[in-house]
Amino acid sequence: MRHVWRAATIARVSPNTWTNWAGNQHCAPASIEHPSTEAELAGIVRDAAAAGQRVKVVGAGHSFTAIALTDGRLVQLDDYRRVLSHDAATRTVTVQSGIPLSILNEGLHQRGLALENLGDIAYQSIAGAISTATHGTGAGFGGIATQVAGMRIIAGDGSIIECSSECEPELLHAARVGLGALGVISTVTLRCVPAFNLHAVEAPARVDELLASLDEHVENNDHFEFFWVPHTGWALTKWNERTQDPERPRPRWQAFRDDYIMSNFAFGALKRIGRLRPSLIPRLSRMIPSSGRVEYIDRSYRVFTSPRLVRFYEMEYAIPAEACIEALNRIRAFVDKSGLMISFPVEVRFTAPDDIPLSTAYGRRTCYIAVHVFQGTQYQQYFEAVEDIMDDYGGRPHWGKLHFQTAETLAPRFPEWDRFQAARRRLDPQGTFANPYLERVLGKAT
Ligand SMILES: Cc1cc2nc3c(=O)[nH]c(=O)nc-3n(C[C@H](O)[C@H](O)[C@H](O)COP(=O)(O)OP(=O)(O)OC[C@H]3O[C@@H](n4cnc5c(N)ncnc54)[C@H](O)[C@@H]3O)c2cc1C
Repeated sequence: MRHVWRAATIARVSPNTWTNWAGNQHCAPASIEHPSTEAELAGIVRDAAAAGQRVKVVGAGHSFTAIALTDGRLVQLDDYRRVLSHDAATRTVTVQSGIPLSILNEGLHQRGLALENLGDIAYQSIAGAISTATHGTGAGFGGIATQVAGMRIIAGDGSIIECSSECEPELLHAARVGLGALGVISTVTLRCVPAFNLHAVEAPARVDELLASLDEHVENNDHFEFFWVPHTGWALTKWNERTQDPERPRPRWQAFRDDYIMSNFAFGALKRIGRLRPSLIPRLSRMIPSSGRVEYIDRSYRVFTSPRLVRFYEMEYAIPAEACIEALNRIRAFVDKSGLMISFPVEVRFTAPDDIPLSTAYGRRTCYIAVHVFQGTQYQQYFEAVEDIMDDYGGRPHWGKLHFQTAETLAPRFPEWDRFQAARRRLDPQGTFANPYLERVLGKAT
């Protein structure tokens, strides 16, 4: 199966091409549309269905997989990104589905609210983020889709379905993580929390010492994560504690130095040298943990998310939290033995279980392990080897990050797989929202 998938992802570039952020996925849609109302959005779906065309909405193109590609009508929501309403009593906010998280976060803050947890960037659209089960870290917190209280979805025949806990709860249950396969999400209602600050501490640590007390770090901190630096015994750790203490941000120059110069420009330069001279990677990697300890307090969304200017390819797996240490040590052993030169740190995060059928954290305390390579670098051997390890723990791949699974290998890993497929048959019986990636990972729509 693996070689078939590789052949299917060779890029076809033409003047009317859409390309994702990582530059590894391209498509030449029949048309690119920019609706600004729900009626226009529904009209696009209705016309496409009548003409036997397919439809795909793209968010910010921050998925590494071919999930957002289409040869039919490609819909961009750059004119459909407003906050529509806010209910102070229930702390819910309804937004148009194309709103980028960066704008949403500011809009929530102005209303004294915040999302409970976030991933590490804010470029994504809200619909794109929930559709692939985007998550951050924190053993007591779920991914972004767990914060969804309602949606309006445009089904394959162009009809608009409102779903919430009172109306169409079965659809809401499945559609929170829908991979873009159930319909076009028009609006999303989010359950928010009062705005809060995070007390951030970032510091290097010896990876073996960290793993020896891992449970303690994960359970005793609100949002703990770490990055193991391949070819070294070092990890970079991040502890974020929720607090109502006042903001004590880093001085601007320091934030710029840490987030742009160190994390992006200097990091990117090391990666480029590593791509030209892979044998230098172990020596360059030893420079990464040399950054010192950083401590500050800032608004939650400013701490959770940061700029990402260095482009890369990524694969991420969700495994039971109990398997974290064994799985990570197997990756470490593989890297040491393989002779591969890996220039990107391996990221390790944790979340609470949830009940969303295609969520990667469904029904279990979850550890996420993510591997990356610099853009333009071969990743197959590394990613396949890591995937083989993750398979031993019933690993579930991030839907927006590279992997080699198929519907056949995935179905047994999601206990509510059939419930999702029933929603898909109901909302999209003609396969209007299908594409080759969805057919690979979910099977045919009908
Ligand atoms: C630098 C970087 C950092 C990242 N960090 C994290 C992280 O910390 N945690 C994490 O879990 N992931 C992370 N990701 C992955 C990213 O969050 C997901 O791939 C996410 O889906 C991207 O959102 P997007 O808006 O770019 O969606 P796209 O990639 O454009 O689309 C993703 C899917 O959503 C569908 N979709 C979009 N809008 C709609 C709509 N209105 N209706 C129906 N379907 C829709 C698309 O059709 C497609 O199927 C990262 C990716 C990058 C490149």
